[in-house]
Amino acid sequence: MALAGRATAAIGDGAHVPVLVIGTGYGGSVTALRLAQAGVDVHMLEMGQAWETPGSDGKIFPNTRTPDYRSYWLRTRTKQPLSNFLGFPLDKDVPRHAGILDAEEFAGITVYQGRGIGGGSLVNGGMAVTPRREHFGSVLPSVNPAEMYDVYYPRANAELGVNHVDPAWWETVDCYQYARVGRKHAQRSNFAFTLVPNVYDMNYMKQEAAGTATKSAVDGEILYGNNHGKKSLPKTYLARARATGRVRITPLHRVTSVTRAGTRYAIVVEQLDTSGNVTATKTVTADRVFFAAGSVGTSKLLTKLKATGALPNLNGEIGKGWGDNGNVMCGRANHLWDPTGTVQTSIPTAGIDNWAAGGAFAEVAPLPTGIETWASFYLSITKNPNRAQFTWNAAANRVDLSWQTAWKQPSITMAKTIFDKINSKEGTIYRTDLFGAYKIWGDHLTYHPLGGAVLNKATDNHGRLHGYPGLYVVDGALIPGNTTVNPFVTITALAERNIERIIAEDL
Ligand SMILES: Cc1cc2nc3c(=O)[nH]c(=O)nc-3n(C[C@H](O)[C@H](O)[C@H](O)COP(=O)(O)OP(=O)(O)OC[C@H]3O[C@@H](n4cnc5c(N)ncnc54)[C@H](O)[C@@H]3O)c2cc1C
Repeated sequence: MALAGRATAAIGDGAHVPVLVIGTGYGGSVTALRLAQAGVDVHMLEMGQAWETPGSDGKIFPNTRTPDYRSYWLRTRTKQPLSNFLGFPLDKDVPRHAGILDAEEFAGITVYQGRGIGGGSLVNGGMAVTPRREHFGSVLPSVNPAEMYDVYYPRANAELGVNHVDPAWWETVDCYQYARVGRKHAQRSNFAFTLVPNVYDMNYMKQEAAGTATKSAVDGEILYGNNHGKKSLPKTYLARARATGRVRITPLHRVTSVTRAGTRYAIVVEQLDTSGNVTATKTVTADRVFFAAGSVGTSKLLTKLKATGALPNLNGEIGKGWGDNGNVMCGRANHLWDPTGTVQTSIPTAGIDNWAAGGAFAEVAPLPTGIETWASFYLSITKNPNRAQFTWNAAANRVDLSWQTAWKQPSITMAKTIFDKINSKEGTIYRTDLFGAYKIWGDHLTYHPLGGAVLNKATDNHGRLHGYPGLYVVDGALIPGNTTVNPFVTITALAERNIERIIAEDL
């Protein structure tokens, strides 16, 4: 599917717009589409690139195996989540560029996020998981589960293009051998194993595997963007938003301030070039502003704006309740008779569910290295209870996050309820070469930042920020730290729920 529409003319200094949306990820895209359908003109600002122009290799996005200048957000050296292989460091120097994946470093954790029109949908694994209903009370305690499971989860799944892998094909195709090995080991240790829906076009993947379509997921494209089968937001919500004719998007524009200006809000925006230099600073005004910069982006902005006096009436909940969705990674070394395959599709479709008994849901993840590794690799989501807070550091002119590396220990303990048992049953051991020399756990990172402007605390129960009529939070910052599964379906469904109420009552 082609990208619909192109980025429109950049927003001008002094412009006034009825609605400004900061960020173009899930929360922002839902908000823009629904407002536009209600007849409201919307302008979206995105600090990352539009990702519509091919690079020198003729492709828009580089391969996971060969990171280049397009891969990282304003870094001069890659910071790959799997930093090592067989003990050798994998990172390399790259030119500083407004690349697609941000490895944002705080004192105790590196938070990976997508940068560009489409936000995290550009880089994520596409796993589109609705939490089990019996766990929803811990995900969003102030939200009525009936409305979510009857209306907003189904709506989000339909709009995102969530689809299922054909189980018969999955059973036989080479590129899912790694997942079938994962199933065999899970089931021999009596763990529940489930196939998980995804937004990757599974029919396209069948064609790739058969050699009748250009290889994309089957060739390992994912972490730095996907050139073909992934239904990212520019192909779904944002395509429909642009088709209304009411939504304009300005890329390479980063919001740095929002303040009250009479009955309106004044927004300061930095225009960036692709090297990350600020080429202009603009001030625009808006009647309403929707914060959709992601959990970290929205929390950093609001924490700074409250602390520096730009929005002093924000309440004391701003910056609080941040969690990492309990993310922790590990690998297992299989026996020589258990190869995981030289060809591994980058799209995960399966998980081991030990949430109720052990507090862990482990995604069976690919290692698309192109060679046989005899490794099984997992990203676990765990019931980690630790929550961190964003604070303004005036001396350093930045926002800090209080997360400590040691706070991952509960996640490791929960993940071990799965993998210690499997290793014991299979007579196998953990890989120690993927995250450094002799390091078992990938406990330094998260892919799933959540919280920082929590629903019904920093905002009312529909995302209206306390203290400022016309300011809203619509992204992962609303969710208090854990979704029990991969988060973007819940972020999307919550945004659908909240914007429906906001349109009915506020506009
Ligand atoms: C490698 C990876 C794999 C993942 N895999 C999965 C998966 O399989 N399934 C799943 O459910 N989730 C997955 N996730 C997580 C998922 O992508 C996020 O939870 C989701 O994108 C968050 O949505 P959001 O709307 O809160 O914000 P985002 O999608 O993060 O969008 C925020 C946008 O705002 C922009 N922005 C930030 N600050 C500013 C500013 N000041 N001015 C202007 N623009 C700004 C950002 O550049 C970004 O485009 C993965 C994430 C990563 C990094």
